[in-house]
Amino acid sequence: MDNQQVDCGCDQVVQPLMSTTDALDFLLNAAPKNTNTRSVALDDALGQILASDVCSSINVPGFDNSAMDGYAINLKNDQVNTPGGFTFDITDRIPAGSTGKTINPGCCARIFTGAPTPKGANTVIMQEECELIDNDSKIEIYRPISLNENIRPMGNDITNGDVILKTGIKLRPQDIALAASVGVDTLEVFDKIKVGVFFTGDELVDPGGELKDGQIFNSNRYTLVALLNNMGCEVVNLGNVEDTLDSTCNALEQLKSSCDLIMTTGGVSVGEEDHVKPAVEKLGNLNLWRIKMKPGKPLAFGNVGDSQFIGLPGNPVSAMVTFLLFARPFIRKMQGIENCTNNSIKVAANFNWNKSKPRREFIRVRLDNSTTPAKADQYPKQGSDVLSSMVWADGLIEIPEKTTFNQGEILKFYPLSEMMS
Ligand code: AMP
Ligand code: MG
Repeated sequence: MDNQQVDCGCDQVVQPLMSTTDALDFLLNAAPKNTNTRSVALDDALGQILASDVCSSINVPGFDNSAMDGYAINLKNDQVNTPGGFTFDITDRIPAGSTGKTINPGCCARIFTGAPTPKGANTVIMQEECELIDNDSKIEIYRPISLNENIRPMGNDITNGDVILKTGIKLRPQDIALAASVGVDTLEVFDKIKVGVFFTGDELVDPGGELKDGQIFNSNRYTLVALLNNMGCEVVNLGNVEDTLDSTCNALEQLKSSCDLIMTTGGVSVGEEDHVKPAVEKLGNLNLWRIKMKPGKPLAFGNVGDSQFIGLPGNPVSAMVTFLLFARPFIRKMQGIENCTNNSIKVAANFNWNKSKPRREFIRVRLDNSTTPAKADQYPKQGSDVLSSMVWADGLIEIPEKTTFNQGEILKFYPLSEMMS
């Protein structure tokens, strides 16, 4: 941890600034891993986290088969790769789902995609390259023919005993398809984690209500619930909680025994109206971090009983960005996801950064993908209250502290499309 001291705006408290890397490491080390699992049918498995490896007990395909509608031929040695036309008697017909008889040298069978290639067949030629002759009793092929054309060999995709899906993946359609292809009909997945949420701020009014002087609509409530739903969490939402210590403690008490994690927004600074910190400290343990980043800064982490606790800042962009950068990997780890951290790609800044800043910045940018690497343009207003910037942006670029650069600088870009899932 960086021990740089900072004036936090409150007489009695001086808190250290923590780097984003240290904060994330701390959170990931502290995240308790889900141990409860259940079995789900394939149709219910999408987006669940796989809790045990899936092995195949068969080869896929289970037999050599045709990749084409065409003719399976028993090519004689002197017919292999030989120029000039050859004629083959059609001695069988093999649709998918049936098996054929042995084909003698110089003969062939009509065959359809996915049907097992019969004994004797050593190549398959697509029907478009075969001409039916003699009342459709023979085919003639004019081009040189090689062995093993259009034959999909047994085990081409999967071999008996292969681990086809690994513990800790979030199941996608293709994962479910692969399980189905080896005949697995249920998957062991981790139970959903339960997240209790409430929101602080006496200035907040729910959308649909009427604003009086000094009031604002509660957007964080919708941000947080949507983000958690997106991540497949079960959400218990207590809504707005009055800015008093008693109400804040009551809300925590209500959630602590039934939830794996409690999350709040706002009230984590150190003013008299910020009751989250004292409430969590009273009922559990709390680390309040000032993180060396912008937007963001205050982030609270601790526990209330067996429930983990994360308090996000109140400013809407800060709440969303700190959720994505810290809470998301933490929750993914809790969910049992193996690769729980955010992925980034490299993009080029389409602007100069002339002034060195003391904190790491996460700038809302849009990408111009017409160049390689893509160019990132920043939203003109980067304030932590400017929620429009999140709607406009494709993602966040990370600008290290104490740096300046010119247009073209290569930086890390975190796509919102990926983090919002
Ligand atoms: P706080 O962290 O409670 O001091 O709040 C910081 C800023 O975020 C203030 O301007 C609050 O009005 C605003 N804010 C806090 N909670 C919300 C919320 N749920 N929705 C929108 N803005 C909020
Ligand atoms: Mg507040």
